Amino acid sequence: MLGLFKNLIRRREIEGEGVRELSSDYLEEDLPPAKRSTIQSHLSKCGPCQAFVDTLASTISILASLPRVSPPASFKRSILNRTRRNEGRSFS
Ligand SMILES: [Zn+2]
Repeated sequence: MLGLFKNLIRRREIEGEGVRELSSDYLEEDLPPAKRSTIQSHLSKCGPCQAFVDTLASTISILASLPRVSPPASFKRSILNRTRRNEGRSFS
């Protein structure tokens, strides 16, 4: 019973991870429709991923509003990594 519960949690984490990896492509509307709707349905039932995408979206729009500055891939990756570290802490 407990094992099953753990499996469910682990599966959910992997799914969330995938959503976050794809979130910048999602925000840039650079995903095939099937993938996009998968992410949308995950976001509709997952608060943490929703918050993550919201944060990423506002960060990108702030940076995009600055002249001649666009968020480099390494910057997006550092947001992804930071969020992942924070989550690790809250799970421990
Ligand atoms: Zn999620």
